[in-house]
Amino acid sequence: MTIQILSPQLANQIAAGEVVERPASVIKELVENSLDAGATRVDIEIDKGGSKLIKIQDNGSGIIKSELALALSRHATSKLSSLDDLDAILSFGFRGEALASISSVSRLTLTSRTAEQTEAWQAYTEGSDMAVKIIPAAHPVGTSIEAVDLFFNTPARRRFLKSDKTEFTHIDEWLKRIALVKPEIHFTLKHNGKQVRNYRPANNQDQYLMRLAQVSGKAFAEQALEINSQHEGLKLSGFIQSPYFDSPNSDTQFFYVNGRLIRDRLVSHAVRQAFSEYGTGEQTSYVLMLEIEPNQVDVNVHPAKHEVRFHQSRYVHDYILQALQSALIQVTQTSLQFPEK
Ligand code: ADP
Ligand code: MG
Repeated sequence: MTIQILSPQLANQIAAGEVVERPASVIKELVENSLDAGATRVDIEIDKGGSKLIKIQDNGSGIIKSELALALSRHATSKLSSLDDLDAILSFGFRGEALASISSVSRLTLTSRTAEQTEAWQAYTEGSDMAVKIIPAAHPVGTSIEAVDLFFNTPARRRFLKSDKTEFTHIDEWLKRIALVKPEIHFTLKHNGKQVRNYRPANNQDQYLMRLAQVSGKAFAEQALEINSQHEGLKLSGFIQSPYFDSPNSDTQFFYVNGRLIRDRLVSHAVRQAFSEYGTGEQTSYVLMLEIEPNQVDVNVHPAKHEVRFHQSRYVHDYILQALQSALIQVTQTSLQFPEK
């Protein structure tokens, strides 16, 4: 074979393999875009577990008409302009790959209006040809993206989709995770025409606990211990299960770094170790948010950004451990003083 440069469409479809695994990953990318655009409300609509239709509507900044086609092309982003920016990145996106990838494996409609525009515009692409058509449309300030027939042109990937119910569960589980770290955002989810989730904005502690109860159950929310700790550029907040809570449920083990949900062995080790004295290490529920200087953590480790690399990992581990230990010691001491409680 002779050497050839991949067509943009093929390059996008290959890249889509990394970020677009299933409907839930499409929704993750689109909702993160809405949040990056400053939306306060995000409505998600899916049909057949997302394999037929995924629609996200937000009230964010919108995209101006002249950039609609650009937004759909690969490596086009408004969030990064130099490698140095990556050190300070706080937006979810920066790779400029999601819309290009999603549009290469679905029939995608992007409708948007900025506050400066009096009318909205709509771009349509179909995986098969990368030409973008732009027509006038009706839409309030913000953006709607509709991805229809996911993987219609990549049958091998379409076959990997599980039942509608399983795909729905992946979406629902992801939504729980984002709902807990973005409490001030109103999220709704509609499946097959019926509203199934409504996370109203939570602007104070009581409202946050209501959201926590919605996501993780009343039992956890009612006994959860609040964590609020700060030390030299590190801040840890959130809720952990009380060591006296006797119906542990490990479904809720969420850890976020600068608002991004991550999986990290070091972090889970610190949490487990803090709880090991109470015999609930593995089963412990927690929702913990770490804030750290963006230049102390590398988020560009994985295309879907599930992993991060801390520059001073030992220090971060020990900080988390100590913050949890001191919160746990406080409750155990209080209950020694008041043994009837
Ligand atoms: P990235 O998020 O990495 O920049 P994407 O492919 O997800 O790449 O999006 C490309 C660009 O399109 C974004 O940088 C942003 O400027 C614009 N965009 C995408 N979705 C939205 C949205 N919901 N509201 C406003 N702008 C958006
Ligand atoms: Mg993005």
